Amino acid sequence: MTSYPFTFDPAEPFIQQASDWIADVFYEILPEVGFEVRDEQIYMAFQLERAYSEKQTIFAEAGVGTGKTLVYLLYAITYARYTRKPAIIACADESLIEQLVKPEGDIAKLAKHLNLTIDARLSKSPDQYVCLNKLDETRFREDDSEIYHDMYRGLPDFVHFPDTLQAFHPYGNRKEYPDMTDEQWERVGWDVFQDCLVCSQRHRCGQTISREHYRKSTDLIICSHDFYMEHVWTYESRKREGQLPLLPDHSSIIFDEGHLLETAGQNALTYKLKQTLFESIVVRLLQGEIRESLAVAVEDAISQSEILFDLLDRSSVKVPASNRKEIVLNEELLREVIRFRDLLATIEEELVFESGVYSLDEYQLKIVEEHLEMIQHALSLFRQPDELISWVTEDPDGVTLIIMPKKVKEVLKERVFSQKKPIVFSSATLSVDGNFDYTAQGLGIEKYLSFSVPSPYDYKAQMRANLYPDHTVTDKVKQVIHLLQESEGRALILFPSQEELQQFKRDLAGYDEHQAFRFLYEGSAEISHLISAFQNDEHSVLCAVTLWEGLDIPGPSLSHVIVWELPFPPNDPVFTAKRKDTLQPFQDVDMPYMLLRLKQGIGRLIRTRDDQGIISIFGKELQQSEVWEQVNRFLPHEIERTNP
Ligand code: SF4
Repeated sequence: MTSYPFTFDPAEPFIQQASDWIADVFYEILPEVGFEVRDEQIYMAFQLERAYSEKQTIFAEAGVGTGKTLVYLLYAITYARYTRKPAIIACADESLIEQLVKPEGDIAKLAKHLNLTIDARLSKSPDQYVCLNKLDETRFREDDSEIYHDMYRGLPDFVHFPDTLQAFHPYGNRKEYPDMTDEQWERVGWDVFQDCLVCSQRHRCGQTISREHYRKSTDLIICSHDFYMEHVWTYESRKREGQLPLLPDHSSIIFDEGHLLETAGQNALTYKLKQTLFESIVVRLLQGEIRESLAVAVEDAISQSEILFDLLDRSSVKVPASNRKEIVLNEELLREVIRFRDLLATIEEELVFESGVYSLDEYQLKIVEEHLEMIQHALSLFRQPDELISWVTEDPDGVTLIIMPKKVKEVLKERVFSQKKPIVFSSATLSVDGNFDYTAQGLGIEKYLSFSVPSPYDYKAQMRANLYPDHTVTDKVKQVIHLLQESEGRALILFPSQEELQQFKRDLAGYDEHQAFRFLYEGSAEISHLISAFQNDEHSVLCAVTLWEGLDIPGPSLSHVIVWELPFPPNDPVFTAKRKDTLQPFQDVDMPYMLLRLKQGIGRLIRTRDDQGIISIFGKELQQSEVWEQVNRFLPHEIERTNP
């Protein structure tokens, strides 16, 4: 029996009844326990009613403090119970997933004040789980080996003694290892080069078990944008391989911080290929009693892959301040790509004959075919170099080729937005001056509903801002210390990259004054653990790279946001390609990206009507009047030029 939080009359439309109850929640039930009645929230609820009853896509742009999360959660939960399929809440990244389910988060608030039992389960991305194979390798290395031995000993018994009859339970996720640095975690966390399909430890791997757990959720499954997109792109191939899709059939989708979805779509469509991985996949074919022509085709393809990767390495140039090398496409390279594709096609044809004589394991054959098809698809993008973004990276295992389509909207349109399903985009920044076409077009959305509600906060009274256009790096470190002294810590410092954060950390060591503060650095421990430490230690300082969005810390612990550098996009192949597509790259690509990110960063400061705080923004680009004016538009009132 489905439990609705209101008395349901089957003779009346469900959404209408759900909306009446949601209106009661915001007008009566929550105000009775101390919540304020917010007009913006009630307006948003009426807008979502239409999206849910008409099963449409809606852009819900709502400023900080409107309480938008509570609104979409109520619709998502009630509709999930009505349709008997969970709703998907896709957050921008893994740390925002944790924000939603933390004990003082919005799901817990609804459960407590509405007396609801909410079944909310997390579907974290694969890289958030320990890979047993990598752990087996890493724990016998000398560096930090004790940490990994401890980790191994702490795994559930059913991992160590697989034959015993025991109930399996989810384990091995990043959050369970709060003190590990990101670098230490990377040595044991899943990565894209792990071939889970043929792994002998698959059935007791934490990642597999967690999937079985979240698939059974009845109300909400919470994942990242990247994971949702991974689900979309792998849906068909998983079905062909006889596997379940990553996510179960669902009733509605909420894209929280939905302005970031296009990037996630691109990430998920990105294909990474290593020569050694390719070789390890195709040599599996040589294990059976195969015909000579197939063996020759495999050998030829391996030789050609070596030639191609060698040429890729020689044809690429280093991108400054990045581990990427941009590929300079030339005729020779394109010719070698075609040759490699032809050899893959020969193997594929040979496999058709081979499958008829059953000399190879059928499952293995399917997996190899699937890999070859993916490689073919990725390399086919080289036929239209204008539609392609590609680069290489180098690590001790060799060169990795990364291939990404420039535009994802056709695929998104076909596989996501053509579904007759309520889809909600929620963010404080979805439109350009009230127009949603820019976001809609990038995602291939043709028909949509939309609305904007501003933040209810009085920024003029609650926030003070300083802009610092002229400085050297040394001045800046000194100035930041001075600013921290002014606010007695209580600050979030936002950096554009991990490299700059690390440089700041090194430079800071030269100043004794830094000892007055407790600095917490992103990457030095699990992120939600760091956020919680920052929130609970009022005078601490959190230095972060990925917390421009979503971080919600009301109260004095976050009274100062320091922007270390204006967040212009990196000089990487993705943005290089975007810049090449326009006549005014600075105005069309760099500036909108920076302003959106900056607006999100500033949004971390004032989280309640009682919050007060300072925004300090550094950036040499502020010397340009165009940048100065645009940045000023986000600030509570015109700022006088401030020098350190
Ligand atoms: S299933 Fe994948 S993640 Fe798990 S142990 Fe095997 S290779 Fe590693």
